[in-house]
Amino acid sequence: MPSPWRHALCAPCYEALEPGRNPVALRDAQVELCCRCGLLTVSGIYYRADPESLACKGVHRSASEDIHILLGMMGRWYFEKADAPGLAWSGSRWVPHYRGVPASSVQVANYARLDEATEEAGMRGFRVLVQKKPPRPSHAEPSHAEEE
Ligand SMILES: [Zn+2]
Ligand SMILES: [Zn+2]
Repeated sequence: MPSPWRHALCAPCYEALEPGRNPVALRDAQVELCCRCGLLTVSGIYYRADPESLACKGVHRSASEDIHILLGMMGRWYFEKADAPGLAWSGSRWVPHYRGVPASSVQVANYARLDEATEEAGMRGFRVLVQKKPPRPSHAEPSHAEEE
């Protein structure tokens, strides 16, 4: 990715930063992650700004990053970076964690339900490699097919 000062923005975020201005947009726009809201966009809008002023903090990731969705110690789902398991998703960037518990002052994003986490992953352009479900309680949904 190019300079940390060059940011992709979705149209609503451009409008929020530059009200009433018409953005210059690339014609053959690629799928990018908006540096302000973190969602996928094909706006083709790039914006020059101090990295500290946007959620990305100048760290630009590709729109098709691989993740694992895991159940953390707190009983909530979180995203772990597939090629760097020591890093979890904070909502805008990758931060150190231990089993879903933040290992720095930056919080780890977590979700009460797996379907909620999966939907969020899709909106942020993550590719989910693994979803680890908790073991099913023995009294719920008896599976006759698996009995001897
Ligand atoms: Zn950015
Ligand atoms: Zn945005």
